[in-house]
Amino acid sequence: MKFNKVLDEVKIYEAGKPIELVVREYGVDSKDIIKLASNENPYGTSPKVVKKIQEIATNMFMYPDDSMFQLKEALSNKYNVNSSNIIIGAGSDQIIEFAVHAKCNKDSKVLMSKTTFAMYEIYSKQAGATIIKTEDAKHNLEQFSKLYKEHKPDIVFLCLPNNPVGECLDTKDVYDFLSEVDEETLVIVDGAYQEYAAFKDENKKIKVDELISKFPNAIYLGTFSKAYALGGMRVGYGIGKKEVIQNFYKLRPPFNITTLSLAAAIEAIKDEEFVQECIAKNFDEMKRYEKFAKDRGFEYIESYTNFITIKFDDKYISSEIAQNLLQRGIIVRDLTSYSMNAIRITIGTNEQNTKVFENLDEVLDILK
Ligand SMILES: *Cc1c(COP(=O)(O)O)cnc(C)c1O
Repeated sequence: MKFNKVLDEVKIYEAGKPIELVVREYGVDSKDIIKLASNENPYGTSPKVVKKIQEIATNMFMYPDDSMFQLKEALSNKYNVNSSNIIIGAGSDQIIEFAVHAKCNKDSKVLMSKTTFAMYEIYSKQAGATIIKTEDAKHNLEQFSKLYKEHKPDIVFLCLPNNPVGECLDTKDVYDFLSEVDEETLVIVDGAYQEYAAFKDENKKIKVDELISKFPNAIYLGTFSKAYALGGMRVGYGIGKKEVIQNFYKLRPPFNITTLSLAAAIEAIKDEEFVQECIAKNFDEMKRYEKFAKDRGFEYIESYTNFITIKFDDKYISSEIAQNLLQRGIIVRDLTSYSMNAIRITIGTNEQNTKVFENLDEVLDILK
């Protein structure tokens, strides 16, 4: 059977391995498995949010509120924007999909960093667009600027901070770049880890109301999957000028967010204290990873997120390290598919991280 030609170029997204797979394939007890591959919040969902989910779970026969009034209201207060500036998606992934399909066809060009979130490329290729990448793994605005002028792309993706690398541009440099960009180009500022970056360094914080009022061609993406500890609920959002958001609405399927997910997200915004506590613990624990890498002579990338990327020299192959950890019930992300001899590890709880260090030392010893 013939399929849409553009699909020939599309790679299937490789998600972090689920716990169930490790139980099945390696016979590890599920309670002993440490999953640090998808940048989830390791402290779990806030107890207040869990309580809310349980309360409303008995009433699921009706469709959700498709206007998503309450969640938009909560987000508009959080970011000091109007409800009409907001669209909610099944994860911010769905907003990336809307954005790409709203702008791109087979004649379009999309600019992104060499090593960045894989879904930018996948959605762009679904639309048949041509991908242009900078040379550096980290965001390099000089290269962005040069390629922007050369190609005049329809979309520019900026991942701030960047997944899977962990670095983050300063907001003032982002603004300098944005002022060079023509208003026909949609700039997507992906803030999946902004809560972490803003906590660590004020210079990395994006003020969303300022971003969209200064740059009408920019949109901001946020998610409840990372710091807000609701990866299983699939809620994300896009914030931009009303005219841009209106066009995304034309692509939105009805009832794209479940009643449970809406309620959970609304409750999660109320419990900001929980989120900030988790972020503080994240950066305390990250110091242990930095020390671990330093002590063993491995390079790591300074991270503004809830994960750290550790690079290996020629003595080791990152896929072998990841595979050996997997057999021991520790799931991390190998970055070979991103052309890096490195692994990305989500910063876990204190106890989890201690186990990671012990196991990683054993694995390094075996592979030496
Ligand atoms: C996790 C992530 C997202 C989106 O996650 P959703 O669960 O779809 O909201 C978007 N961008 C980056 C860079 C991410 O790491």
